[in-house]
Amino acid sequence: MIVAILGAGPAGMSCANACLSFGLTPVAIERGDHLGGAQRSNFHPNLWMLGFPGETGEQMTQRLAAHYRELPLTTHFRAEVTQVQRSGNRFLLTLAGAEGSRTQAADAIVLATGTRPRATPALAQFAALCPRAIIGPLSNTIRDGIRDTDVLILGGGDNALDHALFLAERGNRAVVCTRAGFSARRPFIAACQAHDEIELRAHCSLPRLACGDNRVIATWPEHARAFDWLLVMYGYLPNTEVLARFDPAIRPALTGNGYLHVDAWQRSSVPGIYAAGDVTDSPQPSVATAMAQGLTAARAAERDLPAS
Ligand SMILES: Cc1cc2nc3c(=O)[nH]c(=O)nc-3n(C[C@H](O)[C@H](O)[C@H](O)COP(=O)(O)OP(=O)(O)OC[C@H]3O[C@@H](n4cnc5c(N)ncnc54)[C@H](O)[C@@H]3O)c2cc1C
Repeated sequence: MIVAILGAGPAGMSCANACLSFGLTPVAIERGDHLGGAQRSNFHPNLWMLGFPGETGEQMTQRLAAHYRELPLTTHFRAEVTQVQRSGNRFLLTLAGAEGSRTQAADAIVLATGTRPRATPALAQFAALCPRAIIGPLSNTIRDGIRDTDVLILGGGDNALDHALFLAERGNRAVVCTRAGFSARRPFIAACQAHDEIELRAHCSLPRLACGDNRVIATWPEHARAFDWLLVMYGYLPNTEVLARFDPAIRPALTGNGYLHVDAWQRSSVPGIYAAGDVTDSPQPSVATAMAQGLTAARAAERDLPAS
């Protein structure tokens, strides 16, 4: 019994590992070049993975990927699903990518496609044109080069303030601008308030932005200021766009806020299709949660599929 797993982040990797132990044959389809998903470039020490104190997201990803690579698994990298149809009791996936176009039959599908950073269309367009504007967290290549700079951070959640602290502790100055109040956890807000190099601006209007010579000029009604970097930290959106390529008769339902709707067994609204990790509306997205959901999805598939 073949289980096609879309996404090779923590949820997809864990699902593939569990499929093996349940006697299923997993085939992972990853649109990127690498295993690991969102944590691949997280340089912050992980607070939620019991047993690995101080381990960063990067290190955790390396640990999980090293184990994954030892397993007898098929993973297609740089592969996109272009069509999904029913074929009798099975699914037929059409894949396009580095290995050319091919079809993959599967008895079950697990969607483990995670999330991507959110931005308004205008900010996304600005970032596409301005190399000093970044949507979402800093990559590990950029973060090491940022010293003694002025950074404007748009957003008021944990990620925004976590980045402000990280940058300020390395000699940068950060202005954090959020339209309403700060929604970050209280310890982050307190730590930022106590830091001389961080200015927190609640009820701050979105500035007009211009891309200068290695700078971003932000203009508010009352003043303008040049920054070396602009970081947009508006949260995350589920990666569900692949569902447009599913035959409408087998397109799983979404929750009101656009995540994949699943039950406690990670079953979607369509029999044989499951979802795990951040693409579902998890109350506390984390590597541990995603991995547990990947495991549950594999168990559900094993239970639901007729014995071969
Ligand atoms: C800034 C930040 C900090 C975080 N800090 C922590 C932390 O300290 N500790 C912690 O436990 N968690 C943390 N998290 C949460 C954690 O990263 C996620 O919960 C976890 O990565 C979710 O795993 P996932 O497999 O569901 O999704 P992801 O890790 O997002 O992986 C999804 C994978 O699917 C692939 N994909 C997407 N679309 C497709 C498609 N159509 N076809 C094929 N492949 C596709 C992507 O390329 C990616 O590899 C943090 C998240 C962020 C953003």
